[in-house]
Amino acid sequence: MTVTIPFDNSYATLPERLFTRQPPTPVRSPRLVAFNHTLAAELGIVGETDPLAEVFGGNAVPEGAAPLAQLYAGHQFGHFSPQLGDGRAVLLGEVVDTHGRRRDLQLKGSGRTPYSRMGDGRAWLGPVLREYVVSEAMHALGVPTTRALAAVETGEIVVRETPLPGAVLTRVAASHIRVGTFQALAARRDRDGLEALFAHASARHYPEAQNPLDFLNAVIDAQALLIAQWMALGFIHGVMNTDNAAISGETIDYGPCAFMDIYHSDTVYSSIDQMGRYAYNNQPDIAVWNMAQLATALVPLMPDADRAIHQFTDAVHAMPGKIQAAWLDRFRAKIGLGTAQEGDLALISDLLDRLAANQADFTNTFRALATGNAPRDQFTVPAAFDAWADRWHARLEGEEAPEARMRAANPAFIPRNHRVEQMIAAAVEGDYDPFFRLLAVLSKPYDDQPEAADLTRPPQPSEVVPATFCGT
Ligand code: AMP
Ligand code: MG
Repeated sequence: MTVTIPFDNSYATLPERLFTRQPPTPVRSPRLVAFNHTLAAELGIVGETDPLAEVFGGNAVPEGAAPLAQLYAGHQFGHFSPQLGDGRAVLLGEVVDTHGRRRDLQLKGSGRTPYSRMGDGRAWLGPVLREYVVSEAMHALGVPTTRALAAVETGEIVVRETPLPGAVLTRVAASHIRVGTFQALAARRDRDGLEALFAHASARHYPEAQNPLDFLNAVIDAQALLIAQWMALGFIHGVMNTDNAAISGETIDYGPCAFMDIYHSDTVYSSIDQMGRYAYNNQPDIAVWNMAQLATALVPLMPDADRAIHQFTDAVHAMPGKIQAAWLDRFRAKIGLGTAQEGDLALISDLLDRLAANQADFTNTFRALATGNAPRDQFTVPAAFDAWADRWHARLEGEEAPEARMRAANPAFIPRNHRVEQMIAAAVEGDYDPFFRLLAVLSKPYDDQPEAADLTRPPQPSEVVPATFCGT
């Protein structure tokens, strides 16, 4: 084999009841369709195309790997499932990257595991390419996220509503420890397991945390910042279940996610989210709710439960203020403000109300503020912008370099849902050009790229994708 991966595995040394050792299930004819060479270099991974396809398709377990499926639980749409776990993924192992950061390598779509329940353990090409493009775009946009290292077509058919080409994604993450990982052990009243997981997760992600309260606060801070970043980009995760909330504060699990085109604060994309639980404007509340579930799972670690509950409750109650502060920071930058004043929240909220009332495209309107390229034309009634702009210009007096600040906060390019869908449709037909083009353009989302102007356009009415489906 000519793939070398400098594995340094730590999760595999935790108590065995936190996972099941499980190699990936081989596939018929693995073909490497995408490989992230820059990321591979950061991870110290070396290999040639065919052996890479064997390894990242799951046909060859590379030397030093300790493949396993992780146990976790989770609240799905508010309902607790005590056992979820990696039903179609295996952790190959961990590497310490060139920056000294420990990172997981996980194959997703790698076959059945003891946690598969009724599922086939596989993924089809569409969600694999969606996650590849959107997670890499998120990284380039500056948002903490898991990364995509490889996509492999399996040469097998996966049956969903129709027969579809199968694929495997290699995902790289700071870790795959979720709120639901803690919940799984708490639900089993496995205090020793919880203790071991806590020691591992806090040393790995928040080494400055001295105790579970510090740890909880650190996770809350990371999640608060993450949610504010999502909101500032018009990103809707779609399935903010506790099993999809990473302890590291990275965005994880790109299923029915999407970026908003026209701004409406109650936008929902996920076809399975019929109550709008994970609507755009609900994300801050849901993040708080998820942290309350983490807090509950951490209580057994504390010697005095009553005292812990008080302290943890205070920590969770502080989170909305933290999200709001981070949100305000981000949106101030989006309108060019580097200083803080009393009326800023009202000024920003007023703009957002006008966007909603005027069918304005979220990304293009903010970008137009940065470039000065006719922001008023984004509004069905341009005068609605002018009235706001007078107050905005007055507020900008004395601000230093607002254009540069806005350009750095307001991307020109986001992975628009209709483009992602078009890209998937082309790839299914064997045409990967749209995939590679999206990847290339989205690797520099804050740069003007005039040759890619078509990718800034909102969908035509016929192109609108009303719902995105779960990545199964
Ligand atoms: P997700 O919706 O991707 O966050 O997955 C929720 C749970 O369902 C996790 O435990 C997954 O491992 C499991 N799951 C999703 N799709 C499949 C599948 N095709 N086969 C087996 N398990 C799956
Ligand atoms: Mg998940």
